[in-house]
Formats: sequence, C-alpha cells, structure tokens
Amino acid sequence: MTQIAECSECGNTRGLFGECPHCGSSIPPLLAVDVVEFNIKQGNPSVEDAMDILADKIRDLQELGMKSIILIHGYGSSGEGGRIKRAIHEALESNHHADRVEEYFFGENVPYGSAAFHDLMKKRPGLKRYIRHFKTSNAGITVLLLGSKYRNA
Ligand SMILES: [Zn+2]
Repeated sequence: MTQIAECSECGNTRGLFGECPHCGSSIPPLLAVDVVEFNIKQGNPSVEDAMDILADKIRDLQELGMKSIILIHGYGSSGEGGRIKRAIHEALESNHHADRVEEYFFGENVPYGSAAFHDLMKKRPGLKRYIRHFKTSNAGITVLLLGSKYRNA
C-alpha cells in the first residue's frame, strides 16, 4: 500500500495514510492509482478483527476517492482463511457495506476471459494492472467497487 499516492503539498511519493514523510503534510494525498490490493490475512487476524479492519479500510479508502479494492482473503474449507472469506461474503450479501461499496464481485464469478470479467474491466480499467489475480475460479479474492449509492441519487 505504498508508492501509490503523491503528496498534495511537496509532490513526493508517499503512503495513503498519516503524514507525508517528506514534508509532514497531513492533507490527504493525490492518488496515483484508483485500485489497491489489500491482503486481509496480513498479521493473521481473527475473523472478528478482520471484519473490523475491513470496515475501517473500506471507509478510509472510499473517503480518499479510491475506486476499487482487490481484497485478498484466501479460501479453504477449514481454518481462519475460510472463515474470513465466509464472513466477508455474508457481510457483503447482507449489505453491510452498501453505503460505500457500490458493487462487489467474488473472484470465482469473474474468471479471466469470461463475460463478467470483461464487464468488470470495462467498469474499472484500473483493475487490469492486477490481472494476475484473475484466473479460473479464484475463490481467494473479492473485488469491491467503491462509491456511494446515495451520493448522486
Ligand atoms: Zn509532502
């Protein structure tokens, strides 16, 4: 999550959050990309912690103006990875993040080359940089398209 933004004040490359390491500016940075990938398994959180982390991440990134998140959660029928994936699916399907997530696509439903995949790339061309994540039935990712359903309503 570094090297994808530049400081609005000094123009140097900086991280998305916190102060600019170069000039100390706390003004939100300009985004160099509109897609980020986020591995929610980093640090091996519990399911509960992972869901808190995800809610914060969605809020922070949506408020910065990020357009899409490639959420890497892994899969598996047992273990924490599988539980995190199921919790994410359930949260999305019950519209838990609907105020900030316009649309979501489970990796297994947008395999490389499919019609759904092409539709998704048309909606968010920035995702093409991350094409390596899209393969046949990649159940280990979920793509979140950020925006506000209500903003332009
Ligand atoms: Zn700066």
